[in-house]
Amino acid sequence: MANEQGYLVAVIGAGPAGLYAARELASKGAKVVIFNRDIKPGGLAEYGIYYDKYKMKEGLRKQFRRILSTPGIVYLGHITVGQDLTLDDLRDLGFQALLVTTGAQGTKRLNIPGEDLTGVYHAKEIVYHYNHLPPYSQQDFAIGRKVAIIGVGNVMADIATWLVKDKRVDEVYAVARRGPFEVKFDKKEFARFARNLDLDDFEREIERIKDRLAPGQDPEAAKQHILGMMAKAKETGSPTVFRFRFLSSPKAILGDEQGRVKGLELADTRLVWKGERTRPEYTGTSYVLDVDTVIFSIGDRVDPNFGLPLEWNAYATNPEPRFPVDGISYEAYDPDQKQPIEGVFVAGWARNPSDGLVGIARKDGERAAQAVWQYLQTLPPTAVNLDALVDTIQAKVSKPVITWEQVQKLEAIERAEAEKRGLPEFKFDSNAAMLAALGLA
Ligand SMILES: Cc1cc2nc3c(=O)[nH]c(=O)nc-3n(C[C@H](O)[C@H](O)[C@H](O)COP(=O)(O)OP(=O)(O)OC[C@H]3O[C@@H](n4cnc5c(N)ncnc54)[C@H](O)[C@@H]3O)c2cc1C
Repeated sequence: MANEQGYLVAVIGAGPAGLYAARELASKGAKVVIFNRDIKPGGLAEYGIYYDKYKMKEGLRKQFRRILSTPGIVYLGHITVGQDLTLDDLRDLGFQALLVTTGAQGTKRLNIPGEDLTGVYHAKEIVYHYNHLPPYSQQDFAIGRKVAIIGVGNVMADIATWLVKDKRVDEVYAVARRGPFEVKFDKKEFARFARNLDLDDFEREIERIKDRLAPGQDPEAAKQHILGMMAKAKETGSPTVFRFRFLSSPKAILGDEQGRVKGLELADTRLVWKGERTRPEYTGTSYVLDVDTVIFSIGDRVDPNFGLPLEWNAYATNPEPRFPVDGISYEAYDPDQKQPIEGVFVAGWARNPSDGLVGIARKDGERAAQAVWQYLQTLPPTAVNLDALVDTIQAKVSKPVITWEQVQKLEAIERAEAEKRGLPEFKFDSNAAMLAALGLA
């Protein structure tokens, strides 16, 4: 391909935010190279969304396939920016703008004693594991028989579904600092395992917390709020018992002599009103839950080692954006220097970790692409030769770089394998196996 005049953008991360951003940029005429850590694209749409939502996931893959087949968009998988190539390398390669859509790859910690014990995990590791993302797919998680999940959102519901239906553990506890009215999961997600709720224990739990609900919160209504979500729940056939522990805040994880979890100490809370929302306050008492595994499902944070400054759990953005879209700032920012980082933009869960569903990440990516486009209009177009650029990148990265053609080949091999094994889906569990299937190892 000969040199063309145009704008050259690197999108880092091929989750929904990055993919829809790439489409938006390409539709405006920019040339886009997508760099992705994983061999396959999709991010959490591929490796986060529960594995048996086959129809939903295939629908998203179809859209992603269309995007990745668009002229002017190049996909390069198996490249971790920050490790295999730095942001400066990308600038040196001629990219005029860098859009970071790497999601929230870091983990949040509560900094309580015992967080490093065997049997303590973070939700993302587990969802990556059961969705076959290397290296988590190969990791042996020491899930015991009695598991506490900290958090009561949809991710908790996914993990509980896996523990109830696949692992068939004895007991699962969902632990919340607030009460039944404040649970964050959707009815549909709860319905997948709600039949396993221990109803006697639930009655006792409401009785235990009823005097500590926020003023005006009716215990009977609180009970019905949860039970009302069970109407369409189907039997799971699993013996697992599911229980809630409300108004309970993790205080310490207790370990045995082998360094394995043997209990979770929870501080009792009571709810008070703060404006329209409730806030938990400690009562000064605590109790120990008899569990051997603790899974944190409290949201994520971005990777602190990526190479961009953080603000709280996200990459910092310019508080006074030069290229706002719908009032939102997408420009990366250095809070120490009090300056935007020239030409670098962030979107999706990298900008706002754990924020909602694919549709929200998509919208965020599209808006960020508009911000990038505004920025590009301040620069002259450059000479772009995508084929030569890909060759240069391949030569610079000391491992196989995976193209979109190769991803399609891999998907075809996996589909054939699924058919052969009579499975709804098959995924290779390691990068080595994927590379071998492609004849690259
Ligand atoms: C457990 C779970 C279940 C969910 N279920 C649903 C659901 O049922 N329905 C729904 O609509 N939404 C669901 N979501 C939400 C949805 O997955 C997210 O909204 C969306 O994927 C976020 O998109 P993103 O592009 O910002 O980040 P991600 O999807 O996380 O994509 C980030 C991409 O960046 C890449 N990357 C990371 N670091 C680097 C690096 N250094 N260099 C290069 N590439 C890098 C990763 O490989 C990945 O491809 C779920 C989320 C979770 C966690």
